[in-house]
Amino acid sequence: EVRVRFAPSPTGPLHIGGVRTALYNYLFAKKNQGRFILRIEDTDQARYVAGAEEYIRESLDWLGITPDESPWNPGDVGPYRQSERKPDYMQYALDLVKKGHAYYAFDTAEELDAMRERLTAARVVQPQYNSITRTQMKNSLTLSAEEVKARLESGEPYVIRVKIPRKEEVRLNDLIRGWVMVHSSTLDDKVLMKSDGMPTYHLANIVDDHLMAITHVIRGEEWLPSAPLHVLLYKFFGWEETMPEFAHLPLLLKPDGNGKLSKRDGDRLGFPVFPIDWNNQSTGETAIGFREQGYLPDALLNFLAFLGWNPGDERELFTKEELVEAFTIERIGKAGAKFDIAKAKWYNEHYLRNTPIEELAKFVQADAKLDGFELSEEKAAAIVRLTKDRVTFSAELWKESQFLVLAPQKFDEQVASKKWNTDAVKVLGNYAERLDVFTGQFDAETAKTLLGESAEAVEVKLGKVMQAVRLAVTGAGAGPDLMEIFAILGQEEVAKRIRFAME
Ligand code: GLU
Repeated sequence: EVRVRFAPSPTGPLHIGGVRTALYNYLFAKKNQGRFILRIEDTDQARYVAGAEEYIRESLDWLGITPDESPWNPGDVGPYRQSERKPDYMQYALDLVKKGHAYYAFDTAEELDAMRERLTAARVVQPQYNSITRTQMKNSLTLSAEEVKARLESGEPYVIRVKIPRKEEVRLNDLIRGWVMVHSSTLDDKVLMKSDGMPTYHLANIVDDHLMAITHVIRGEEWLPSAPLHVLLYKFFGWEETMPEFAHLPLLLKPDGNGKLSKRDGDRLGFPVFPIDWNNQSTGETAIGFREQGYLPDALLNFLAFLGWNPGDERELFTKEELVEAFTIERIGKAGAKFDIAKAKWYNEHYLRNTPIEELAKFVQADAKLDGFELSEEKAAAIVRLTKDRVTFSAELWKESQFLVLAPQKFDEQVASKKWNTDAVKVLGNYAERLDVFTGQFDAETAKTLLGESAEAVEVKLGKVMQAVRLAVTGAGAGPDLMEIFAILGQEEVAKRIRFAME
């Protein structure tokens, strides 16, 4: 059975790259009738941010990629928060000590600094705690067994470090990048257990992936440098047989392709690169995200799916189900994916046009209500029909159509100076009178016929004054189909607005 996990650390808002990682894990799991697991990696208590976990949950639910197993919906390999698995990790670290693959280290922060300074002075480019330098430090490889025992018993702080072999080639066959080979001399003796009794990311991650029977680790490329250490840990534990496959996803690049996408790019894109509203309780920082921008979950999913993956043909529009069907790791690229917000908007426009009118009408009713207007379902639906092909976000439906409810008090001056003339006034005056007495069914068709009759009566070419007519009734020089607007407004309101404009 395929079992994959999304393992975010609750240290702040979920970055859009994290959402993509979650999505790819979800798609891969569903494609293979496997399970998608959420594990909260909260061992770094200093960086823990309250609310971050809730935020992750809400983001995934909103996007419709809810995990099969999570802290809120546990399966049988829980707990799903690392802080609640704490008692287990020490035993695994000690197991490695017993096997000779890890050791106690008692060095103080000052001693570690001094070591780094010595190495830097000797022109070592990357000073590290490794097979050479460890021989000069205070650890269970250099101290006598009695001394180690005495130090441990006296309660002296210690960490447990992994013992990286001096000369060994570490290989892994990444499903996206192919063979990755690293010489162990470039790795350092990473801390596995911290002095506060908490495991580091590396230890907890490997132990949990093993205990949770994870078959595929799909995560961002920034974790690729850690992968050789992880491979060694699987070997040291004797878990090679069940070691998961690795797939490191390509980086997300800035819109211009220059460098990695960062939180700051959000400002340039017009909003933070997070999926939904986030209120950071410790900093009070608020980020308005994709949801608040008016992105539809399906549009965002479709957009994110294509940041690093493609189906191998020209198709770009995929529902979630179609993505599941088409998704394979083989079709994930190695090259970084440009974060093209114009494309995201394009997707949103598409999904907006395909959303049922009644559903969008509800958005419009809600938005109008915030502005103090009660719109009937009919009126809201009429607004949607008129506007939906012209906007990118659902919030614009109401913003762009307020003139349907509110008579214009101001008129676009630029258009007025060019288009407002005696011919226009003649046509409008005649039209208003015609509207006063008209008794038939007033729809877009009749609105147009009557307007044509007015133009003819005063001997003006209708085409020449159309923009002025629009200006009089809507206040703007451009907008959706004018005759549809007239039909929605009704003949009385149109006449009223024309008279106001002519004053
Ligand atoms: N906790 C890590 C993160 O925040 C997980 C990395 C991994 O998937 O192994 O990204």
